[in-house]
Amino acid sequence: MRNRGRILIRGIVQGVGFRPFVYARAADLGIRGTVRNTGSQVEIDAWGDRFPQFLDAVSRGPPMARIDSVQVEPLDGNPPPDFIILQSAAGALSGLIPPEIATCRDCTGDIFTPSGRYAGYWATSCVNCGPRYSIITGLPYDRERTSMAEFPVCPSCAGEYSDPSCRRHHAQTIACPACGPQLSLRDASGTPIDAPDPIGEAARLLDAGRILAIRGIGGFHLSCIQESAEELKRRLGRTEQPFAVMVTPGHLEEITWVSPEDWGWLESPVRPIAVLPKRDPDALTGISNLHTLGCMLPYAPLHHLLFARLSHPLLIMTSANHPGYPMITETDEAVEKLQGSVDFFLAHNRRIVNRCDDSVVRDGFIIRLSRGIAPKRTRINLGPRCILGVGPELNSNITIYTKGFAVTSPHIGHVRNPPTLTYLQETVERTGRFLGASYDVIAHDLHPQFLSTRFARELAASTGAALVPVQHHRAHVAAVTTVPCIGITIDGVGYGDDGHVWGGEVFSGQVPDLDRVAHLEEVPMPGGDLATRFPERMLYGILPGAETRALLADRGWDEIALGVLERQVERSVNIAWTSSTGRVLDAVAAILGACRERTYDGEPAMRLESLAVRGTAREWPLVFGSRDGCRTLSTRALCRLAFQEYSRSTDLPLPDREKARADIAASVQHNLARGIAALAVDAARERGIPTVVLSGGVAYNRAIRETIQREIRAAGLTLVMNPEYPLGDGCISYGQCVWAGSLRDG
Ligand SMILES: [Zn+2]
Ligand SMILES: [Zn+2]
Repeated sequence: MRNRGRILIRGIVQGVGFRPFVYARAADLGIRGTVRNTGSQVEIDAWGDRFPQFLDAVSRGPPMARIDSVQVEPLDGNPPPDFIILQSAAGALSGLIPPEIATCRDCTGDIFTPSGRYAGYWATSCVNCGPRYSIITGLPYDRERTSMAEFPVCPSCAGEYSDPSCRRHHAQTIACPACGPQLSLRDASGTPIDAPDPIGEAARLLDAGRILAIRGIGGFHLSCIQESAEELKRRLGRTEQPFAVMVTPGHLEEITWVSPEDWGWLESPVRPIAVLPKRDPDALTGISNLHTLGCMLPYAPLHHLLFARLSHPLLIMTSANHPGYPMITETDEAVEKLQGSVDFFLAHNRRIVNRCDDSVVRDGFIIRLSRGIAPKRTRINLGPRCILGVGPELNSNITIYTKGFAVTSPHIGHVRNPPTLTYLQETVERTGRFLGASYDVIAHDLHPQFLSTRFARELAASTGAALVPVQHHRAHVAAVTTVPCIGITIDGVGYGDDGHVWGGEVFSGQVPDLDRVAHLEEVPMPGGDLATRFPERMLYGILPGAETRALLADRGWDEIALGVLERQVERSVNIAWTSSTGRVLDAVAAILGACRERTYDGEPAMRLESLAVRGTAREWPLVFGSRDGCRTLSTRALCRLAFQEYSRSTDLPLPDREKARADIAASVQHNLARGIAALAVDAARERGIPTVVLSGGVAYNRAIRETIQREIRAAGLTLVMNPEYPLGDGCISYGQCVWAGSLRDG
């Protein structure tokens, strides 16, 4: 029987308490030897009669580890007298940047143990929980390469750190009230207030209806109670966009429907925002005027302590930034930028090295890939070259592929303004440095004008990397699979091969060779991007003519504006052509009066969905056509039916009228989904391809997604989605890497 060996464990082994875990097993089993992190793996030299049991135990790893491989090599020489944890060595770096871990049960217990060292301490953590990515300045993960290095440990913390029997043995983030980072309460001008109990005082202010900016793990939140939501919206000038909330578990069940799958996410170490259906769609409208509410549970000791002192069970917790801009991380910056929006600041002095917004999930799909999930690492073989994917323009992140792993950064935002572009550049620089990346290939969106495209070109010029443009919707498919497939992508906008605005596409083939075989009918967007902001313009583009004109006049359009719109469409001046799914939903939202101006991403379509959940879908006839060798689904025909039904509804008494409009919303979603599925099924049957891929932001719409799913399965085909990456544009940078990696000849 083997009684010695060098064990090499690869995977997510940093920042998860791997070495203390190994130490404890060694102590249990009388094993002598050493353990160390080498950056990409844990290396254990072990001697002892119970080596086989030890190998078995360490191969499973601690709860937060993800193990890719375990290898055992022969070992010579003599064991040390004991088992020793060695200093980390900087070895081959391969993408092991640990994500944040929500506070564990043990640490929650510690902060509420009155006599304990950690009683009431806002930054309590252990090997199983705490900040990670947000504080890391370099790898391997050790305290000296985090912003915790600025806080030398006190003798008590040093004792626990070196005590093998303690949960904080080698906990890099160990800190206590005596030695760790501290909170401070500040007034609206940023001046510190003398408050011996900042959390208690913050809770009192929140309960009294004041608005606070709270510095958390990866950035600042704006926080207030439900009663102050309207005031916060007023101050921010964001009257429509729903806020996310943080609630106690008991209250969550009172206000929303939580499925077992949602509970799984909510209570996981990620603790994301879960978008949940409200129990009463008409409740909490000051926070969200949709039928859903974005909810999270307290995930940091600070939150647990705050809720323990608060008399309200719910707090608005929205990222402190303009939508699409980077989350504010620095206290000085918060004071400057939030001037006039907040009454107080609850800040701390632990540096946030890497910004990290809250992750968002819905129905088990990731909407925003961020805190607790990112940097997300996927094992995939894309060949020997190092590839950077810079993402699209909206809801961007970046992905770096090197040595068998793709690593995707946290959510970056809308890369159409300079601060977000700067954040993108910083993220590329830092993540690249962490991974030791030197790019052979840079993949970017096909759109020539995107800031991310320009950045890709500049970086390629300075590094000599090859550029690979990737069409937006093909990147969506590549993020799901590289096997032969029919690929459905339904989203807002993406630059097509022909320079038109695509967004309701069906492809056939295999990455990197996907043919566009079907799409939604192309319709004009009068005024280009303006039609995205004002859905009524989109409506007129799809259904030009006297009836739409009359409806718009009714809604307050003046004659001059209508005349301009009419001429634009008639003469095809200042028009973009689009097959976008989102724009069709926008137009229907306009018919139903559900949204006149889009004030945040996807608003009209979300309002339509909220209307549709109250309605019953009916089957409408579908009209198909063809254009340039592609099959098309007529969205004009669908919108015309919706318009007719709407016109009929105007004579009904009020409750019936509302029901009729909900039915129209439901019917449009249902029939649009049916039509898209039919295009895919036909393409699959013609080519004998059994696999259908679904991606794109519109697929978050439950009714649309489930209808497509049902139709595809009913046709005997397999529908594939990738729950590991967002359905929306947060999957694009990863898809770009996969695409570029599939071009093996270059
Ligand atoms: Zn813990
Ligand atoms: Zn201490």
